[in-house]
Amino acid sequence: MTSGRRIAGMLCGISFIAATAYCAPITVANAGKSVYSIYFDAAAPSSVKVAAEDLQRILRISTGVELPLVNQPKSPMICLGDNAAARDAGITLAEVQPEGFKIVTKGQDLFLLGTDTPDGQRTPMGGFTKGTQYAVSAFLEKFLGVRWLMPGDAGEVIPHHEKVVIPDTNLKEQPGFLMRDLMYVQEFARPEVLRWFERQKGGGPHGGPAMKGQGEPGYRLISAGHSWDEYVSVEDLKRHPEWLAVGGDPGKFCTSNKELVRTFAEGVIKWIDKAPDRLYASISPADGGGFCKCKDCLAMVETDWHGNPSYTVNILKFYNDVAKIVAEKYPKTLLAGLVYYNYTYPPKKPMKMEPTVHLHPAPLDTYGFGLFKPEYQAEYERLMSEWKKISPDITYTNYSTWMRSESGAPIGPGMEILKLELPTLHKLGYSGVMMCGVSAWGYGALTNYLLVRQMWDPMINLEKTAQDWLQTAYGPGWENMTTLYRRLDEGIKRFKIADQKRIYDVTYEVIRDVHLPLLPEMERLYVATLNETQTDSQRQRLEMFGANLRMLHYHLRRAGLLKDFERSPLYLSDAAYEEFFKQRNGSLFFNGGRRGETVVKPIWVAEKRSLTIPRLPADQKLPVADGKIEEAEWKAAAIADQFRLPGSYQPASQPTVARLMFDDRALYIAFECQEANIGNLSANEWPRDDGRVYHGDVVEIFLSFAGNLRQWWHLTVNPKNVQWDGLVNNAKYSFDWKRATAVGEKSWSVEVEIPWKNLRVENVPAGKTWRANLTRENTASNENSSWCSVEENFMNPEHCGEWVFAQ
Ligand SMILES: [Zn+2]
Repeated sequence: MTSGRRIAGMLCGISFIAATAYCAPITVANAGKSVYSIYFDAAAPSSVKVAAEDLQRILRISTGVELPLVNQPKSPMICLGDNAAARDAGITLAEVQPEGFKIVTKGQDLFLLGTDTPDGQRTPMGGFTKGTQYAVSAFLEKFLGVRWLMPGDAGEVIPHHEKVVIPDTNLKEQPGFLMRDLMYVQEFARPEVLRWFERQKGGGPHGGPAMKGQGEPGYRLISAGHSWDEYVSVEDLKRHPEWLAVGGDPGKFCTSNKELVRTFAEGVIKWIDKAPDRLYASISPADGGGFCKCKDCLAMVETDWHGNPSYTVNILKFYNDVAKIVAEKYPKTLLAGLVYYNYTYPPKKPMKMEPTVHLHPAPLDTYGFGLFKPEYQAEYERLMSEWKKISPDITYTNYSTWMRSESGAPIGPGMEILKLELPTLHKLGYSGVMMCGVSAWGYGALTNYLLVRQMWDPMINLEKTAQDWLQTAYGPGWENMTTLYRRLDEGIKRFKIADQKRIYDVTYEVIRDVHLPLLPEMERLYVATLNETQTDSQRQRLEMFGANLRMLHYHLRRAGLLKDFERSPLYLSDAAYEEFFKQRNGSLFFNGGRRGETVVKPIWVAEKRSLTIPRLPADQKLPVADGKIEEAEWKAAAIADQFRLPGSYQPASQPTVARLMFDDRALYIAFECQEANIGNLSANEWPRDDGRVYHGDVVEIFLSFAGNLRQWWHLTVNPKNVQWDGLVNNAKYSFDWKRATAVGEKSWSVEVEIPWKNLRVENVPAGKTWRANLTRENTASNENSSWCSVEENFMNPEHCGEWVFAQ
């Protein structure tokens, strides 16, 4: 708490309020005395009572005088809520939009009122509005300089006032977006975060358990989550394999199949039947691309503005086809559909959407600071404007100033992006925004504050708002922190402009390129600010930031990336770090999961081992015969050994040696798996592609497609010669390859022959480099290992090594 502390520059906060000459200013408190009471109707919604108590508490802390709470209007008063006393004074909400509010002086009285949903009721759109609470927070901010910089006591700033004088005022505010949601800021785990939202006129967060029974906060919620798996049963799909996407991902449908469309729409109707007053149903595809490549579907595929295949027409037509059927029974229920992934760009010919389709553009390329890229910035307004024309009632979703950061590495607010994004959408008339905040409030509070205030008023002066926050939060040294946040923005911007891989996480690469070079300067700026703090609260807020820097420093040191680390003021020994973390674990400081638990991961520096694979000598017979690795057959092979344990570079206790060769026909691989506990070897004769093969001992081959790390062939064999093969984790894409296994007394072995043509490789990759990994799940000795070490699981192509095929 900062009760009674003087905050520079706050007292002038009232001067910009336009005053008319008719009404004398009113003095609410002076020298610890007041003649005012706080009045609200006894029958007012409970949210108005909460607002009254909050107003009383904050005025008391600021002025030293406690105004009584009364249920009978008596001048002079601060009148809260839309009630008879306000109406008698001629003050109504007639022209105020949902969630809007007014702050009005009349005679000696002050009226704070907004649209409030009565207890137990909802807005016509399923929400719950607290306009009077908004009026009270806005009043305290504007006239007393109160700030809620972040949730909890550490964020509340209440300046001391000897005298509170309110000039003649007639203010009206309403939200810039009717629906506002800020996601993933530990909102469902912490009441203080929900309270912070209310004070920031936040609308959301939506969908949280804390809001049950009251309706969703804010006037309206429409979410367009991935939902295809909700509406068509597994049995139906088994009966109709033709409904699945041809040559696409599992969970994707052939959207031009009329029977599928009908069944899907009936599924949506059944879902609405369960609660017919539902405002909307989401009909968005499962995540990712991989749509149908049948003749009819392919005929609709266009190219997007960057020359890539665009499935927009396929998806929009599907939305329309489903909407027509659903509207026969539910003509008013909205159907929310994402505009996303490879259906981000508008169709070439204008399409008219059915009236119930509500689109949610969520341009994936702009996630994770993608809008730093000049090409996306340049097209942003046009893209958003095209979609607004197609779907006039429209909601925007983005993770634009967010990156998943799990080792304490801070990210900046992305000022350049914030200045572009919501103001553009507001000008275009978007009705809703769902933005992703930063869950680590230690460094993300500024981002969250700017976003939530922009969602209410998209045209705020962002620089001024940020400066006010930094100055209030960190005290006299605040300009250092301004530089620090700017450096983070600059670093991420440089990274994103060079990034070809669409990285949304703070990966090792981001830390190496952005945080590591910036660490000495961040350290210096942080310490300089800390040395200038004047209050406990300033120090506390700054140390929340610093805690993340300490965590980052610790993980960088553990990953072997720091020299001279003991000289850093951020340095903590292992034992000291353990204690430090224990005290702050599960706090708002750090990256938090959905239940508020601290989610933290070490920095993983993937090793990229490299191997040159020779050709099979022309005079040698093919080596894959009986699973027994004969020296004569494999003597020309390259050797991949020293398989490592996951999460370390330590070799496994049970060594594995792989041998590799190739020729114009095939790739040949042999595994020799030493096993001290050969009697415990676990292998059953499962059918081909049965996932249970992974319950026992197996070896696996991961082969990435050239240029596409996200797609890789995955081949598995167990000691009984059972195979599992497919694309990533989808066994539908099986193909023919040859295997033989043998089990000996101290080892088991595999020989494999993979024909190039079955891998759909057009040319033998002689002279080319592929990304690949070899792994072993050893249940006999209960250890997994891999040729290239992995952080925790094998299914991560980032951890693949390089295979260079000889000419
Ligand atoms: Zn199709």
